Amino acid sequence: MHIALLGPCGAGKGSHAAKLATRFEMLHVVSGELFRANLEKRTAVGLLARSYMDRGELVPDDLTEAMVEERLARPDTQAGFVLDGFPRTLAQAEALSDILAQQHRQLTSVLYISVVDQEIVTRLAGRRICRNCQAPYHLTFKPPAQAGICDVCGGALEQRADDNPATIRARLKTFHAQTAPLIQYYKAAGLLLEIDGQGEVAVVKERTAAAARRLLYP
Ligand code: AMP
Repeated sequence: MHIALLGPCGAGKGSHAAKLATRFEMLHVVSGELFRANLEKRTAVGLLARSYMDRGELVPDDLTEAMVEERLARPDTQAGFVLDGFPRTLAQAEALSDILAQQHRQLTSVLYISVVDQEIVTRLAGRRICRNCQAPYHLTFKPPAQAGICDVCGGALEQRADDNPATIRARLKTFHAQTAPLIQYYKAAGLLLEIDGQGEVAVVKERTAAAARRLLYP
């Protein structure tokens, strides 16, 4: 299966994509992570992407598409993948279908996780991530057993630089202006499955898994 997850920042794409990938033995490819890893290593891509990420804007399409194309060309994607955070513009959606066509593959489905803006702001402002293993926490909804320490690996928890209120608002604006048109685009292509992303994480996780099962065993 070749699945892409669509939804605003903070919709839970990352957590649900990771669970789907584990459960159905697919690779989880996260465009934001690819950028953050590039930034950490101070590569040319990372340094170019940084100013856009800090402003909550999208990194230019050509840079993003080249990075994702290189990642999808690696052999570990052969078992299938869950794309998380890409595509985010119509141009990226078209580039993705070209990239996959060249590899004799195509998208199986696009899962759109919908969540209203006010809920996003609450979720992201309290989000904390393990610096070491990237496990996600929330100060109110999913606090770690010991404040500031990851339950999984003992790493330090930190707030992402772009999880501050001003950048969260900018990221939401970017989503509505540039990414939301993809909902209609994939609906018209007959690929869209909408999942209600509001409510308990376990419930949304089950909705997402049920959607994936329907794809696997139609
Ligand atoms: P995320 O972790 O998905 O919220 O991504 C963090 C930041 O990385 C975004 O705010 C963008 O600046 C950049 N980014 C991630 N994915 C993309 C993409 N598909 N297109 C352009 N920029 C992206």
